[in-house]
Amino acid sequence: MAERKVRVRFAPSPTGALHIGGVRTALYNYLFARQHGGEFIFRIEDTDSNRFVPGAEEYIIESFKWLGIHFDEGVSFGGEHGPYRQSERRDIYKKYVQQLLDAGKAYIAFDTPEELDAKRADIQNFQYDASTRLMMRNSLSLSQEEVKSLIDSGHQYVVRFKIEPGEDVCVHDMIRGDVVINSSILDDKVLYKSADELPTYHLANIVDDHLMEVTHVIRGEEWLPSAPLHVLLYRAFGWEDTMPSFAHLPLLLKPDGKGKLSKRDGDRLGFPVFPLEWHDPKSGEVSSGYRESGYLPEAVLNFLALLGWNPGTEQEIMSLDEMIRLFDITKCSKAGARFDYVKGMWFNKEYILLKDNKELAPAFDEILRANGIGASMEQVEAVVGMMKMKKINFIKDLWPLCDFFFIAPENYTYDDKFVRKNWNETTSADMKELAGVLSALDDFSVESQQKAVEKWVETTGKKPWNPWRVALVGTGKGPDMYELSAFLGKEETLRRINKAIEILK
Ligand code: GLU
Repeated sequence: MAERKVRVRFAPSPTGALHIGGVRTALYNYLFARQHGGEFIFRIEDTDSNRFVPGAEEYIIESFKWLGIHFDEGVSFGGEHGPYRQSERRDIYKKYVQQLLDAGKAYIAFDTPEELDAKRADIQNFQYDASTRLMMRNSLSLSQEEVKSLIDSGHQYVVRFKIEPGEDVCVHDMIRGDVVINSSILDDKVLYKSADELPTYHLANIVDDHLMEVTHVIRGEEWLPSAPLHVLLYRAFGWEDTMPSFAHLPLLLKPDGKGKLSKRDGDRLGFPVFPLEWHDPKSGEVSSGYRESGYLPEAVLNFLALLGWNPGTEQEIMSLDEMIRLFDITKCSKAGARFDYVKGMWFNKEYILLKDNKELAPAFDEILRANGIGASMEQVEAVVGMMKMKKINFIKDLWPLCDFFFIAPENYTYDDKFVRKNWNETTSADMKELAGVLSALDDFSVESQQKAVEKWVETTGKKPWNPWRVALVGTGKGPDMYELSAFLGKEETLRRINKAIEILK
Protein backbone atom coordinates (compact mmCIF):
# COMPACT_ATOMS: atom_id res chain seq x y z
CA MET A 1 0.00 0.00 0.00
CA ALA A 2 1.35 3.40 -0.93
CA GLU A 3 2.33 5.70 1.94
CA ARG A 4 -0.60 7.95 2.65
CA LYS A 5 -0.16 11.63 3.25
CA VAL A 6 -0.49 12.39 6.95
CA ARG A 7 -3.87 13.92 7.73
CA VAL A 8 -5.05 14.63 11.25
CA ARG A 9 -8.06 16.43 12.60
CA PHE A 10 -9.29 18.35 15.59
CA ALA A 11 -12.97 17.64 15.93
CA PRO A 12 -14.59 19.48 18.82
CA SER A 13 -18.27 19.47 19.65
CA PRO A 14 -19.57 23.04 19.99
CA THR A 15 -20.96 22.50 23.48
CA GLY A 16 -19.29 25.46 25.21
CA ALA A 17 -15.90 27.04 25.63
CA LEU A 18 -12.88 25.10 24.46
CA HIS A 19 -11.21 23.51 27.49
CA ILE A 20 -7.46 23.95 27.85
CA GLY A 21 -7.06 20.16 27.45
CA GLY A 22 -8.66 20.50 24.03
CA VAL A 23 -6.11 23.15 23.16
CA ARG A 24 -3.32 20.72 24.03
CA THR A 25 -4.96 18.03 21.86
CA ALA A 26 -5.12 20.44 18.95
CA LEU A 27 -1.52 21.51 19.51
CA TYR A 28 -0.25 17.92 19.42
CA ASN A 29 -2.22 17.28 16.24
CA TYR A 30 -0.77 20.44 14.74
CA LEU A 31 2.82 19.52 15.68
CA PHE A 32 2.32 16.02 14.29
CA ALA A 33 0.88 17.31 11.01
CA ARG A 34 3.63 19.87 10.53
CA GLN A 35 6.52 17.55 11.30
CA HIS A 36 5.19 15.06 8.75
CA GLY A 37 4.42 17.61 6.07
CA GLY A 38 0.79 16.62 6.54
CA GLU A 39 -2.54 18.37 6.76
CA PHE A 40 -4.60 19.49 9.71
CA ILE A 41 -8.39 19.51 9.50
CA PHE A 42 -10.90 21.40 11.62
CA ARG A 43 -14.19 19.51 11.88
CA ILE A 44 -17.22 20.47 13.94
CA GLU A 45 -19.03 17.50 15.50
CA ASP A 46 -22.47 18.96 16.12
CA THR A 47 -24.74 15.96 15.75
CA ASP A 48 -25.99 16.25 19.32
CA SER A 49 -28.40 19.14 18.89
CA ASN A 50 -29.35 19.09 22.60
CA ARG A 51 -25.88 20.10 23.60
CA PHE A 52 -25.33 22.74 20.93
CA VAL A 53 -24.27 26.10 22.36
CA PRO A 54 -24.47 29.19 20.15
CA GLY A 55 -21.17 31.00 19.75
CA ALA A 56 -19.04 27.99 20.69
CA GLU A 57 -17.83 27.35 17.14
CA GLU A 58 -16.79 30.98 16.65
CA TYR A 59 -15.12 30.94 20.04
CA ILE A 60 -13.02 27.90 19.09
CA ILE A 61 -11.96 29.45 15.80
CA GLU A 62 -10.96 32.69 17.50
CA SER A 63 -9.01 30.79 20.13
CA PHE A 64 -6.78 29.13 17.56
CA LYS A 65 -6.35 32.37 15.70
CA TRP A 66 -5.06 33.97 18.88
CA LEU A 67 -2.79 31.02 19.62
CA GLY A 68 -1.34 30.99 16.11
CA ILE A 69 -2.42 27.43 15.31
CA HIS A 70 -3.40 27.17 11.68
CA PHE A 71 -5.63 24.63 10.02
CA ASP A 72 -5.26 23.60 6.40
CA GLU A 73 -8.91 22.83 5.84
CA GLY A 74 -12.19 22.64 7.63
CA VAL A 75 -15.00 24.82 8.93
CA SER A 76 -14.19 28.43 7.97
CA PHE A 77 -11.01 27.29 6.16
CA GLY A 78 -12.55 25.47 3.19
CA GLY A 79 -11.15 22.40 1.45
CA GLU A 80 -12.09 19.54 -0.81
CA HIS A 81 -13.52 17.18 1.79
CA GLY A 82 -16.35 19.40 2.99
CA PRO A 83 -18.77 20.21 4.33
CA TYR A 84 -16.85 20.02 7.58
CA ARG A 85 -19.79 20.63 9.90
CA GLN A 86 -21.45 17.31 10.64
CA SER A 87 -24.94 18.77 10.78
CA GLU A 88 -24.49 19.54 7.06
CA ARG A 89 -23.62 15.93 6.20
CA ARG A 90 -26.87 14.14 7.06
CA ASP A 91 -27.35 12.57 3.65
CA ILE A 92 -23.85 11.15 3.69
CA TYR A 93 -24.40 9.42 7.02
CA LYS A 94 -27.78 8.04 5.96
CA LYS A 95 -26.13 6.27 3.07
CA TYR A 96 -23.55 4.62 5.31
CA VAL A 97 -26.12 3.62 7.93
CA GLN A 98 -28.08 1.92 5.15
CA GLN A 99 -24.92 0.14 4.04
CA LEU A 100 -24.49 -1.42 7.49
CA LEU A 101 -28.18 -2.37 7.64
CA ASP A 102 -28.01 -4.02 4.21
CA ALA A 103 -24.95 -6.00 5.23
CA GLY A 104 -26.64 -7.22 8.43
CA LYS A 105 -24.06 -5.40 10.57
CA ALA A 106 -26.59 -3.11 12.13
CA TYR A 107 -30.27 -3.40 12.96
CA ILE A 108 -33.29 -1.26 13.69
CA ALA A 109 -34.57 -1.04 17.26
CA PHE A 110 -37.90 0.36 18.46
CA ASP A 111 -37.51 0.14 22.22
CA THR A 112 -38.81 3.26 23.88
CA PRO A 113 -36.88 4.91 26.73
CA GLU A 114 -39.53 3.53 29.12
CA GLU A 115 -39.08 0.01 27.83
CA LEU A 116 -35.33 0.30 28.22
CA ASP A 117 -35.73 1.59 31.77
CA ALA A 118 -38.03 -1.31 32.59
CA LYS A 119 -35.44 -3.78 31.33
CA ARG A 120 -32.71 -2.10 33.36
CA ALA A 121 -34.87 -2.39 36.45
CA ASP A 122 -35.56 -6.02 35.62
CA ILE A 123 -32.13 -7.29 34.75
CA GLN A 124 -29.05 -6.45 36.79
CA ASN A 125 -26.29 -4.76 34.76
CA PHE A 126 -28.50 -4.84 31.69
CA GLN A 127 -26.59 -4.24 28.48
CA TYR A 128 -28.09 -4.16 24.99
CA ASP A 129 -25.92 -6.81 23.34
CA ALA A 130 -25.83 -10.35 21.89
CA SER A 131 -27.14 -11.79 25.15
CA THR A 132 -30.19 -9.55 25.33
CA ARG A 133 -31.00 -8.20 21.91
CA LEU A 134 -33.45 -10.99 21.03
CA MET A 135 -35.53 -10.07 24.08
CA MET A 136 -35.92 -6.55 22.77
CA ARG A 137 -38.10 -4.96 20.09
CA ASN A 138 -35.91 -4.78 17.02
CA SER A 139 -35.52 -6.00 13.48
CA LEU A 140 -33.77 -9.12 14.75
CA SER A 141 -36.64 -10.17 17.00
CA LEU A 142 -39.57 -8.92 14.92
CA SER A 143 -40.71 -10.08 11.50
CA GLN A 144 -39.97 -8.02 8.40
CA GLU A 145 -43.67 -7.12 8.11
CA GLU A 146 -43.81 -5.93 11.70
CA VAL A 147 -40.74 -3.78 11.21
CA LYS A 148 -42.13 -2.29 8.02
CA SER A 149 -45.49 -1.52 9.54
CA LEU A 150 -43.92 0.09 12.61
CA ILE A 151 -41.80 2.34 10.42
CA ASP A 152 -44.69 3.12 8.07
CA SER A 153 -46.91 4.09 10.97
CA GLY A 154 -44.33 6.62 12.07
CA HIS A 155 -42.71 4.87 15.05
CA GLN A 156 -39.38 6.37 16.01
CA TYR A 157 -36.45 4.01 15.93
CA VAL A 158 -32.70 3.87 16.30
CA VAL A 159 -30.11 1.91 14.38
CA ARG A 160 -27.80 -0.16 16.55
CA PHE A 161 -24.43 -1.66 15.72
CA LYS A 162 -24.53 -5.47 15.92
CA ILE A 163 -21.44 -6.38 17.87
CA GLU A 164 -20.29 -9.98 17.53
CA PRO A 165 -19.26 -11.23 20.97
CA GLY A 166 -16.15 -13.16 21.95
CA GLU A 167 -13.71 -11.41 19.69
CA ASP A 168 -10.47 -9.72 20.78
CA VAL A 169 -10.34 -6.19 19.40
CA CYS A 170 -6.97 -4.55 19.16
CA VAL A 171 -6.44 -0.79 19.12
CA HIS A 172 -2.97 0.19 17.91
CA ASP A 173 -2.09 3.16 20.02
CA MET A 174 1.10 5.08 19.33
CA ILE A 175 1.45 5.96 23.01
CA ARG A 176 -0.02 2.94 24.78
CA GLY A 177 0.95 0.17 22.41
CA ASP A 178 -1.66 -2.47 21.55
CA VAL A 179 -4.73 -2.13 23.70
CA VAL A 180 -6.79 -5.32 23.50
CA ILE A 181 -10.31 -5.74 24.79
CA ASN A 182 -12.91 -8.41 24.19
CA SER A 183 -15.96 -7.44 22.15
CA SER A 184 -18.26 -9.17 24.66
CA ILE A 185 -17.98 -6.22 27.02
CA LEU A 186 -19.25 -3.78 24.37
CA ASP A 187 -22.90 -2.94 23.90
CA ASP A 188 -24.75 -2.51 20.63
CA LYS A 189 -24.18 1.22 20.36
CA VAL A 190 -26.78 3.47 18.79
CA LEU A 191 -25.47 4.77 15.46
CA TYR A 192 -28.46 6.70 14.21
CA LYS A 193 -31.71 8.18 15.52
CA SER A 194 -34.77 8.56 13.32
CA ALA A 195 -36.17 11.27 15.59
CA ASP A 196 -33.67 13.90 14.46
CA GLU A 197 -32.43 12.01 11.39
CA LEU A 198 -28.91 12.34 12.71
CA PRO A 199 -26.17 9.84 13.38
CA THR A 200 -24.55 9.61 16.80
CA TYR A 201 -21.00 10.71 17.48
CA HIS A 202 -19.54 7.25 16.80
CA LEU A 203 -20.90 6.76 13.30
CA ALA A 204 -20.33 10.33 12.13
CA ASN A 205 -16.81 10.32 13.56
CA ILE A 206 -15.80 7.13 11.73
CA VAL A 207 -17.47 7.96 8.43
CA ASP A 208 -15.84 11.37 8.43
CA ASP A 209 -12.40 10.14 9.43
CA HIS A 210 -12.64 7.73 6.52
CA LEU A 211 -14.00 10.18 3.94
CA MET A 212 -11.62 12.91 5.05
CA GLU A 213 -8.73 10.44 4.72
CA VAL A 214 -7.59 10.85 8.30
CA THR A 215 -4.46 8.80 8.94
CA HIS A 216 -3.89 9.44 12.65
CA VAL A 217 -6.43 10.04 15.39
CA ILE A 218 -4.82 12.01 18.22
CA ARG A 219 -7.27 12.79 21.02
CA GLY A 220 -7.83 12.82 24.75
CA GLU A 221 -7.69 9.73 26.90
CA GLU A 222 -11.42 9.99 27.57
CA TRP A 223 -11.99 8.59 24.07
CA LEU A 224 -9.97 5.44 24.61
CA PRO A 225 -13.02 3.40 25.71
CA SER A 226 -14.68 4.25 22.37
CA ALA A 227 -11.71 3.17 20.30
CA PRO A 228 -12.49 -0.59 20.09
CA LEU A 229 -15.95 0.29 18.79
CA HIS A 230 -14.33 2.57 16.23
CA VAL A 231 -12.01 -0.21 15.10
CA LEU A 232 -15.01 -2.53 14.70
CA LEU A 233 -16.87 0.10 12.68
CA TYR A 234 -13.93 0.52 10.33
CA ARG A 235 -13.96 -3.23 9.83
CA ALA A 236 -17.72 -3.43 9.36
CA PHE A 237 -17.42 -0.93 6.53
CA GLY A 238 -14.52 -2.87 5.01
CA TRP A 239 -12.13 0.03 5.52
CA GLU A 240 -9.45 -1.75 7.54
CA ASP A 241 -6.77 -0.83 4.97
CA THR A 242 -7.15 2.81 5.81
CA MET A 243 -7.75 2.44 9.52
CA PRO A 244 -6.02 5.35 11.26
CA SER A 245 -3.41 4.91 13.96
CA PHE A 246 -4.56 6.12 17.36
CA ALA A 247 -2.92 8.14 20.09
CA HIS A 248 -4.83 8.76 23.30
CA LEU A 249 -3.19 11.60 25.18
CA PRO A 250 -2.69 11.55 28.94
CA LEU A 251 -5.29 13.22 31.10
CA LEU A 252 -4.66 16.68 32.53
CA LEU A 253 -4.70 16.41 36.31
CA LYS A 254 -5.48 18.93 39.03
CA PRO A 255 -2.53 21.05 40.23
CA ASP A 256 -2.10 18.73 43.22
CA GLY A 257 -2.10 15.73 40.91
CA LYS A 258 -5.22 14.21 42.46
CA GLY A 259 -7.96 13.70 39.92
CA LYS A 260 -8.97 15.23 36.64
CA LEU A 261 -8.51 18.97 36.08
CA SER A 262 -11.82 20.80 36.16
CA LYS A 263 -13.08 24.32 35.73
CA ARG A 264 -13.70 24.48 39.46
CA ASP A 265 -9.95 24.04 40.15
CA GLY A 266 -9.35 27.13 38.08
CA ASP A 267 -12.02 29.12 39.91
CA ARG A 268 -10.71 27.96 43.28
CA LEU A 269 -7.02 28.61 42.63
CA GLY A 270 -7.39 31.54 40.27
CA PHE A 271 -6.17 30.37 36.90
CA PRO A 272 -8.05 30.17 33.59
CA VAL A 273 -8.99 26.83 32.04
CA PHE A 274 -10.12 28.43 28.78
CA PRO A 275 -7.97 30.10 26.12
CA LEU A 276 -10.25 33.14 25.85
CA GLU A 277 -12.74 34.69 28.20
CA TRP A 278 -16.05 32.89 27.83
CA HIS A 279 -19.50 34.32 28.32
CA ASP A 280 -21.86 31.44 28.79
CA PRO A 281 -24.99 32.32 26.80
CA LYS A 282 -27.25 30.22 29.03
CA SER A 283 -26.10 30.98 32.56
CA GLY A 284 -24.59 34.38 31.79
CA GLU A 285 -21.52 33.27 33.74
CA VAL A 286 -18.20 34.77 32.65
CA SER A 287 -15.09 32.57 32.83
CA SER A 288 -11.59 33.99 32.58
CA GLY A 289 -9.34 33.26 29.61
CA TYR A 290 -5.59 33.08 29.12
CA ARG A 291 -5.70 35.93 26.62
CA GLU A 292 -7.56 38.34 28.88
CA SER A 293 -5.45 37.33 31.87
CA GLY A 294 -2.36 38.63 30.13
CA TYR A 295 -0.70 35.46 28.87
CA LEU A 296 1.27 35.50 25.65
CA PRO A 297 0.04 32.85 23.21
CA GLU A 298 3.59 31.52 22.75
CA ALA A 299 3.89 30.97 26.49
CA VAL A 300 0.57 29.12 26.63
CA LEU A 301 1.57 26.81 23.77
CA ASN A 302 4.99 26.12 25.25
CA PHE A 303 3.45 25.36 28.65
CA LEU A 304 0.85 23.03 27.13
CA ALA A 305 3.34 21.24 24.90
CA LEU A 306 5.16 20.01 27.98
CA LEU A 307 2.06 18.62 29.68
CA GLY A 308 2.44 14.99 28.73
CA TRP A 309 5.54 15.20 26.60
CA ASN A 310 9.12 16.46 26.86
CA PRO A 311 12.03 16.47 24.43
CA GLY A 312 14.10 14.15 26.61
CA THR A 313 16.46 16.97 27.58
CA GLU A 314 16.31 19.77 30.14
CA GLN A 315 15.16 22.22 27.49
CA GLU A 316 11.90 23.90 28.41
CA ILE A 317 11.69 27.05 26.28
CA MET A 318 10.84 26.08 22.72
CA SER A 319 9.53 28.03 19.78
CA LEU A 320 6.73 26.47 17.78
CA ASP A 321 9.26 25.55 15.09
CA GLU A 322 11.46 23.81 17.62
CA MET A 323 8.48 21.94 19.01
CA ILE A 324 7.61 20.78 15.51
CA ARG A 325 11.16 19.49 15.12
CA LEU A 326 11.41 17.83 18.52
CA PHE A 327 7.89 16.52 19.15
CA ASP A 328 7.53 12.76 19.24
CA ILE A 329 4.03 11.38 19.79
CA THR A 330 5.40 7.97 20.75
CA LYS A 331 7.24 9.58 23.68
CA CYS A 332 4.12 11.00 25.28
CA SER A 333 3.47 9.73 28.77
CA LYS A 334 0.65 7.36 29.57
CA ALA A 335 0.23 8.73 33.06
CA GLY A 336 -1.75 11.91 33.60
CA ALA A 337 0.03 15.26 33.49
CA ARG A 338 -0.26 17.56 36.49
CA PHE A 339 -1.57 20.98 35.48
CA ASP A 340 1.04 23.11 37.18
CA TYR A 341 -0.43 26.56 36.51
CA VAL A 342 2.41 28.24 38.44
CA LYS A 343 4.73 26.84 35.79
CA GLY A 344 2.43 28.43 33.24
CA MET A 345 3.11 31.83 34.82
CA TRP A 346 6.83 31.09 34.77
CA PHE A 347 6.62 30.48 31.02
CA ASN A 348 4.87 33.81 30.62
CA LYS A 349 7.63 35.60 32.51
CA GLU A 350 10.29 33.97 30.33
CA TYR A 351 8.45 34.88 27.15
CA ILE A 352 8.08 38.49 28.28
CA LEU A 353 11.87 38.63 28.64
CA LEU A 354 12.33 37.08 25.20
CA LYS A 355 9.89 39.32 23.37
CA ASP A 356 10.72 42.53 21.57
CA ASN A 357 9.77 45.66 23.51
CA LYS A 358 7.91 46.76 20.42
CA GLU A 359 5.66 43.71 20.58
CA LEU A 360 4.97 44.12 24.29
CA ALA A 361 4.32 47.87 24.17
CA PRO A 362 0.70 47.84 22.94
CA ALA A 363 -0.42 45.70 25.89
CA PHE A 364 1.26 48.05 28.34
CA ASP A 365 -0.10 51.07 26.53
CA GLU A 366 -3.60 49.72 27.15
CA ILE A 367 -2.89 49.48 30.86
CA LEU A 368 -1.47 53.02 30.88
CA ARG A 369 -4.58 54.32 29.20
CA ALA A 370 -6.76 52.54 31.72
CA ASN A 371 -4.81 54.48 34.37
CA GLY A 372 -5.39 57.75 32.58
CA ILE A 373 -1.90 58.06 31.12
CA GLY A 374 -1.35 59.01 27.50
CA ALA A 375 2.24 58.33 26.39
CA SER A 376 3.91 58.01 23.03
CA MET A 377 4.64 54.49 21.79
CA GLU A 378 8.33 55.35 21.98
CA GLN A 379 8.03 56.14 25.68
CA VAL A 380 5.98 53.03 26.34
CA GLU A 381 8.57 50.87 24.60
CA ALA A 382 11.39 52.50 26.51
CA VAL A 383 9.72 51.85 29.87
CA VAL A 384 8.95 48.22 28.97
CA GLY A 385 12.58 47.82 27.97
CA MET A 386 13.91 49.25 31.24
CA MET A 387 11.47 47.42 33.50
CA LYS A 388 10.73 43.96 32.08
CA MET A 389 14.02 42.78 33.58
CA LYS A 390 12.29 43.01 36.95
CA LYS A 391 10.92 39.59 36.14
CA ILE A 392 7.25 40.24 35.92
CA ASN A 393 4.79 37.42 35.21
CA PHE A 394 2.37 39.66 33.36
CA ILE A 395 2.61 42.97 31.56
CA LYS A 396 -0.01 44.34 33.95
CA ASP A 397 2.49 43.79 36.81
CA LEU A 398 4.57 46.57 35.26
CA TRP A 399 2.21 49.36 36.28
CA PRO A 400 2.86 49.42 40.05
CA LEU A 401 6.57 49.07 39.33
CA CYS A 402 6.81 52.04 37.08
CA ASP A 403 3.96 54.47 37.65
CA PHE A 404 6.59 57.13 38.57
CA PHE A 405 7.73 57.33 34.94
CA PHE A 406 4.44 59.01 34.24
CA ILE A 407 3.35 60.52 37.55
CA ALA A 408 5.67 62.80 39.54
CA PRO A 409 6.20 61.82 43.21
CA GLU A 410 4.69 65.03 44.60
CA ASN A 411 1.40 63.80 43.15
CA TYR A 412 1.33 60.61 45.16
CA THR A 413 3.46 61.66 48.16
CA TYR A 414 6.99 60.57 48.94
CA ASP A 415 7.67 57.35 50.84
CA ASP A 416 8.33 58.49 54.44
CA LYS A 417 10.74 55.79 55.41
CA PHE A 418 12.82 56.09 52.25
CA VAL A 419 12.93 59.87 52.62
CA ARG A 420 14.00 59.75 56.27
CA LYS A 421 16.82 57.43 55.40
CA ASN A 422 18.07 59.35 52.40
CA TRP A 423 17.31 63.02 52.89
CA ASN A 424 18.92 65.10 55.69
CA GLU A 425 19.77 68.77 56.40
CA THR A 426 22.54 68.93 53.80
CA THR A 427 20.72 67.08 51.06
CA SER A 428 18.82 70.03 49.66
CA ALA A 429 22.09 71.87 49.08
CA ASP A 430 23.64 68.82 47.42
CA MET A 431 20.62 68.41 45.17
CA LYS A 432 20.83 72.10 44.19
CA GLU A 433 24.39 71.41 43.09
CA LEU A 434 23.34 68.33 41.16
CA ALA A 435 20.59 70.34 39.45
CA GLY A 436 23.23 72.86 38.49
CA VAL A 437 25.44 70.18 36.94
CA LEU A 438 22.54 68.72 34.99
CA SER A 439 21.11 72.02 33.82
CA ALA A 440 24.43 72.84 32.17
CA LEU A 441 24.04 69.88 29.82
CA ASP A 442 22.79 70.32 26.27
CA ASP A 443 22.98 66.63 25.62
CA PHE A 444 20.84 64.84 28.22
CA SER A 445 21.72 61.29 27.16
CA VAL A 446 22.79 58.64 29.70
CA GLU A 447 26.45 58.96 28.62
CA SER A 448 26.53 62.71 28.76
CA GLN A 449 24.91 62.84 32.24
CA GLN A 450 27.21 60.12 33.46
CA LYS A 451 30.31 62.01 32.38
CA ALA A 452 29.26 65.25 34.03
CA VAL A 453 27.87 63.76 37.24
CA GLU A 454 30.84 61.45 37.78
CA LYS A 455 33.23 64.35 37.42
CA TRP A 456 31.27 66.31 40.04
CA VAL A 457 31.13 63.26 42.35
CA GLU A 458 34.89 62.77 42.04
CA THR A 459 35.74 66.34 42.91
CA THR A 460 33.18 66.79 45.72
CA GLY A 461 32.85 63.29 47.16
CA LYS A 462 29.06 63.62 47.16
CA LYS A 463 26.78 60.61 46.96
CA PRO A 464 23.73 61.88 45.09
CA TRP A 465 22.14 58.54 44.09
CA ASN A 466 19.52 57.92 46.74
CA PRO A 467 18.37 61.54 47.18
CA TRP A 468 18.21 61.78 43.41
CA ARG A 469 15.92 58.73 43.49
CA VAL A 470 13.84 60.35 46.24
CA ALA A 471 13.33 63.36 43.98
CA LEU A 472 12.46 61.50 40.80
CA VAL A 473 10.71 58.39 42.15
CA GLY A 474 9.78 59.16 45.75
CA THR A 475 10.68 55.66 46.88
CA GLY A 476 13.35 52.99 46.50
CA LYS A 477 12.30 51.49 43.18
CA GLY A 478 13.02 52.08 39.52
CA PRO A 479 15.88 51.81 37.07
CA ASP A 480 19.30 53.41 36.99
CA MET A 481 19.13 57.19 37.68
CA TYR A 482 20.76 58.21 34.41
CA GLU A 483 18.34 56.07 32.44
CA LEU A 484 15.37 57.44 34.30
CA SER A 485 16.50 61.05 33.93
CA ALA A 486 17.18 60.57 30.24
CA PHE A 487 13.68 59.16 29.86
CA LEU A 488 12.07 62.05 31.77
CA GLY A 489 14.13 64.63 29.93
CA LYS A 490 16.01 67.60 31.29
CA GLU A 491 13.04 69.79 32.03
CA GLU A 492 11.03 67.22 34.01
CA THR A 493 14.14 65.94 35.82
CA LEU A 494 15.04 69.41 37.04
CA ARG A 495 11.44 70.17 37.88
CA ARG A 496 11.19 67.05 40.08
CA ILE A 497 14.50 67.81 41.82
CA ASN A 498 13.45 71.38 42.59
CA LYS A 499 10.05 70.23 43.74
CA ALA A 500 11.63 67.77 46.18
CA ILE A 501 13.91 70.50 47.54
CA GLU A 502 10.92 72.73 48.02
CA ILE A 503 8.73 70.09 49.70
CA LEU A 504 11.26 68.11 51.73
CA LYS A 505 13.51 71.06 52.74
N1 GLU B 1 -16.23 15.39 19.07
C1 GLU B 1 -15.27 14.74 19.92
C2 GLU B 1 -14.80 15.76 20.96
O1 GLU B 1 -15.56 16.61 21.27
C3 GLU B 1 -14.14 14.21 19.07
C4 GLU B 1 -13.40 13.07 19.67
C5 GLU B 1 -12.43 12.52 18.66
O2 GLU B 1 -11.43 13.23 18.41
O3 GLU B 1 -12.68 11.44 18.12
O4 GLU B 1 -13.71 15.75 21.46
